[in-house]
Amino acid sequence: MILNPWPEKPLFYASFPSITDPTAAPEGKEAGVFLIPLAPDIEDTDEIREKYFMLLLQRLKDLTDQDLTDAVLFKESYCVKDFKKDYNSYKGNAYGLANTLLQTHVLRPKLKSKKLKNMYFTGQLTVPGPGVPPSIISGKIVSGLIKKHHK
Ligand SMILES: Cc1cc2nc3c(=O)[nH]c(=O)nc-3n(C[C@H](O)[C@H](O)[C@H](O)COP(=O)(O)OP(=O)(O)OC[C@H]3O[C@@H](n4cnc5c(N)ncnc54)[C@H](O)[C@@H]3O)c2cc1C
Repeated sequence: MILNPWPEKPLFYASFPSITDPTAAPEGKEAGVFLIPLAPDIEDTDEIREKYFMLLLQRLKDLTDQDLTDAVLFKESYCVKDFKKDYNSYKGNAYGLANTLLQTHVLRPKLKSKKLKNMYFTGQLTVPGPGVPPSIISGKIVSGLIKKHHK
């Protein structure tokens, strides 16, 4: 395991799906989803997760003046160890291929298999790349390719 450092001041995304989707939480309650971007294969223990959850709540309080510390009824976390266990994910990463120069744009794995004539790939691990919009575009491009090659 590479022991990458955890960030001193973690950045995070915050999303409260229950604000627009009432089925995301029981009536009168809110559901919050927080995401801290981390280095791959970082040390992952229950103690570290708890420490960062508290840091995150403190940061949220500093930024919004909302203290959620005593309002948490249920929480669940998902980190490097879970990505490895559930998805056999390389270094426990969530995003697939890193966006390095040699894995970008046309240098990403191809949409059409080089080995099997009628095999095509789509989604974030191929062209154009990660994210929901590019994954949808990938499906569109590959459907065009299939039409072109299999009239
Ligand atoms: C924590 C997190 C936050 C993100 N935030 C954003 C964001 O804010 N905006 C954004 O645009 N993108 C975001 N992304 C990236 C985005 O979610 C992905 O790029 C996108 O969902 C990839 O779509 P996909 O269809 O290629 O793959 P996936 O959505 O991963 O779909 C692949 C499907 O194939 C299934 N599968 C895998 N193996 C098999 C098998 N052998 N047999 C059958 N089924 C199989 C999987 O179960 C899964 O359902 C985020 C990703 C993560 C992990």
